[in-house]
Amino acid sequence: MKDEPQAMTANASDAGTTPAIRRPGLVTTPLSQPFWDLANDGEFAIQNCVDCGHRQHYPRNICINCWSENLTWMTAAGTGTVWTFTVVEKPGHPAWAPDTPYVIALVELDEGPRAMTRIVDCPPAEVAVGMAVTLQPTWDEQLEQTLLNFAPAASE
Ligand SMILES: [Zn+2]
Repeated sequence: MKDEPQAMTANASDAGTTPAIRRPGLVTTPLSQPFWDLANDGEFAIQNCVDCGHRQHYPRNICINCWSENLTWMTAAGTGTVWTFTVVEKPGHPAWAPDTPYVIALVELDEGPRAMTRIVDCPPAEVAVGMAVTLQPTWDEQLEQTLLNFAPAASE
């Protein structure tokens, strides 16, 4: 309760200052923990179905194609294309206000799965559907976690 009034009054005018409001932390489960652990190594882990070969993200207990529980982790190459995106001008949480505007995208990995991510190292106006992107692991000091952002492939 003590922190709520502060959160309620934060707005974009805080941009450029040290954020007084911390970003909400990750909520991991035994199922998703391997994904986040591998992310800290700069790897984008996806699940591979041993029985049908389907690959999926986010982590699930069963294959969404054949319902098999026989899943293994594999590392994606970290290449893909922007499937769709939006430019965030007003974030859903005030802790991200200093980052606005930023791009949230669904990136279709070359292995098939689509992942929600951020597009970095690119002005929002230059992001386009179909743009080739590559993995750009980014350490987040507040979250103490590497986030699996993507950047234009040409910037590599
Ligand atoms: Zn399967």
